[in-house]
Amino acid sequence: MSFDYDLFVIGAGSGGVRAARMSASHGAKVAVAEEYRVGGTCVIRGCVPKKLFVYASHFAEEFEDAAGFGWTIADAAFDWATLVKNKDSEINRLNGIYIKNLEASGVEILQGRAIVKDANTVMLDGRDITAKYILVAVGGMPFMPQIEGIEHAISSNEAFHIEVLPKDIILVGGGYIAVEFAGIFNGLGVATTLVYRGSQILRGFDNEVRDHLATEMAAKGVNIKTESDIASIAKTESGYSVTYPDGSTQDTGLVMYATGRVPMTDGLGLENAGVELGAKGEVKVDAYSKTNIDNIYAVGDVTARAELTPVAIREGAAFAETVFNNNPVAVDHSIIPTAVFSQPSIGTVGLGEEAAREAGHDIDVYAAGFRPMKNTLSGNSEKTLMKLIVDKADNKILGLHIVGPDSSEMIQAFGVAITMGVTKAQFDATIAVHPTAAEELVTFKQPRGAA
Ligand code: NDP
Repeated sequence: MSFDYDLFVIGAGSGGVRAARMSASHGAKVAVAEEYRVGGTCVIRGCVPKKLFVYASHFAEEFEDAAGFGWTIADAAFDWATLVKNKDSEINRLNGIYIKNLEASGVEILQGRAIVKDANTVMLDGRDITAKYILVAVGGMPFMPQIEGIEHAISSNEAFHIEVLPKDIILVGGGYIAVEFAGIFNGLGVATTLVYRGSQILRGFDNEVRDHLATEMAAKGVNIKTESDIASIAKTESGYSVTYPDGSTQDTGLVMYATGRVPMTDGLGLENAGVELGAKGEVKVDAYSKTNIDNIYAVGDVTARAELTPVAIREGAAFAETVFNNNPVAVDHSIIPTAVFSQPSIGTVGLGEEAAREAGHDIDVYAAGFRPMKNTLSGNSEKTLMKLIVDKADNKILGLHIVGPDSSEMIQAFGVAITMGVTKAQFDATIAVHPTAAEELVTFKQPRGAA
């Protein structure tokens, strides 16, 4: 049987684009359908614009820090509209590059929403298109709990296009997006309240890391309300009023939810092909990203394995290698270095202290909290935390955690060593770079609790 394409990719985000381009480079005839903008969540309304906002919001603190080094910065003023406009130009530029790269790879871009009709057919704009393989790479979207007045709240999608920066904001959630946006808004001078239902933000991270970040965020002015939630939201003349479960209320200029993301499989027609979904609507796949249907694969957030762009990219590449280069590759999801662009930022790879113990490891913990050198003159009270979790059995470093400036850059480099299975002895044998914060990690002498 002949098909219109060897591969039809649904979704031109990080995973879909990588899979499409690499499959084409292996000789496949490829089309990719996108209903919104080529680039996906990360480029269009995620990692990239978020990081630009993080840079913008950090200047206020840097101006303050500069005073201790002799600088006087008069009349510093911030203009939100300029930031949004410049951010939009950069996103447009990247969107253009993604389109150009796809075209240069010989991939056909089809604008519109594709719906799966059967295992080899998708429907787009009322037209049937056939393909030998279908790759589902549609990503996820913000999950909004259905409380009264939720229609008044924004998600991260809208946060990038707010017209007027509010005086105050209430953010709901305690995950990556909530803590990152809390730092952004707070840094830009918006009085920020973060409402989280659990006992401490960033569930799943090392507890000391969570506590350290919460303390530093609070010191910078973020009002963190844990063990709390919002019962309802009402519109008022000047903004919104939220009601907490205990009946108390708080007026605010904006309410933003960052309460997780859900796979975008609704209405995608996957049931027409018999593709099995999990409880959250995620596409269930094996180690090679194959669904229960032999010629249908899925990569990225829609599979809810690890909702991270570099993971989606890796899965997309592995798919192309497996299906179109006759070289089965399974992505290893066991060690994923990651960064939270909170303020201060977090870099983490491997197990946290609690997770390591729960996994049955007998561990040594090395940790240091210190004032980074820059803060001696700046007077900034922010402290850095560095932590190593070492397996006593074989001296391997099971986890490495940093809270502090440049932790995202450091964790990329340390991630290489951890992925290679580095030992504490090999860290000790590494000559320190002085004066840096990272040298702390190769100069730890005594584990915590040792005499
Ligand atoms: P997360 O899963 O990280 O966090 C969701 C938060 O919302 C949790 O604190 C969760 O609480 C809370 N929550 C969930 N449901 C409800 C509810 N019904 N009511 C109140 N609170 C609720 O999701 P995010 O939205 O922050 O981000 C989505 C994903 O995107 C992340 O997991 C991450 O993989 C990725 N991402 C990565 C970034 C990076 O690499 N820097 C940046 C941004 C996003 P609880 O802990 O109690 O479940």
